Amino acid sequence: MARIAFIGLGNMGLPMAKNLVAAGHHVTGFDLVTSAVEALAAAGGNAAGSANETLPDAEVVITMLPEGRHVRDVYGSSIITGAPAGALLIDCSTIDVDSARAVEANAREAGFEMVDAPVSGGTGGAEAGTLTFMVGGDDSAFARAKPYLDAMGKNIVHTGGPGNGQAAKICNNMILGISMVAVCESFSMAEKLGLDAQKLFNVTSTSSSQCWAMTSYLPVPGPVPASPANRDYQAGFTAAMMAKDMNLAQDAAKSTGHDAQLGAHALEMYEKFCEDGNGPLDFSGIYRMIHGN
Ligand code: NAD
Repeated sequence: MARIAFIGLGNMGLPMAKNLVAAGHHVTGFDLVTSAVEALAAAGGNAAGSANETLPDAEVVITMLPEGRHVRDVYGSSIITGAPAGALLIDCSTIDVDSARAVEANAREAGFEMVDAPVSGGTGGAEAGTLTFMVGGDDSAFARAKPYLDAMGKNIVHTGGPGNGQAAKICNNMILGISMVAVCESFSMAEKLGLDAQKLFNVTSTSSSQCWAMTSYLPVPGPVPASPANRDYQAGFTAAMMAKDMNLAQDAAKSTGHDAQLGAHALEMYEKFCEDGNGPLDFSGIYRMIHGN
């Protein structure tokens, strides 16, 4: 079993780190939020007082941080200089492709193997150990990373060279952001037409409009008991994170000369929802804005 440094124990990172502990690994974790570090220790991991403290004997270093700037910071200030020679570096955060490729190039120059391995499946998937990992990196780094990713997920897809995990993630989340808006618009219209949400769900969940935003994350309470709509849109996956990912998708579209118009429009809607003070809510809470309540 490996000694693993885990940096970033938020909504996703903490349950992922706990699954590594449950698989028998020695996990030393750090987060800026002390209660998250304490929660890992209570689950059998080790608490560190800084990112640097997680590193001295790490064989694997995993990061699960909010944005590209956090990943560049932690790699620049701690990991590249503090990780032992030969450690495998795995970044599971969702960040822009350019940052992912730049960080990997720095790591490679310093002699490390690294993969970008963003995830899909939400906090439920993180807790259940059923995440999908989209992994960018060369064959040897992927082969080394796979056993650790297997302990946190059930679908590990090698999507190509460095940065291609992030490319797959951004394409996936642009579909999710758009499809959530579509589900909100239809279920809102249904209510205004006097059509019961459960009855519509019975049709759509088994018909051609079926999608994850509907069957796992329905933005109205009732038919999908585990969806955030049943707990006042407590995140989950925050609207601020969705706006971030839709922005990353637009940046990627522009950098390749691609015109993703529905993505651009959905991004405007999430940004408006966040500007109105709803950034910390689950992204499915955009139903309230669309429905007008
Ligand atoms: P989060 O905000 O809950 O967790 C991020 C954690 O990183 C926080 O606890 C924060 O304190 C910590 N952090 C920030 N800077 C740090 C530093 N310098 N050192 C140590 N810790 C630091 O976010 P999350 O929901 O866990 O998401 C993490 C990443 O996973 C994001 O990139 C997000 O887009 C992606 N993601 C999230 C979900 C989801 O459903 N929440 C799903 C898929 C992917």
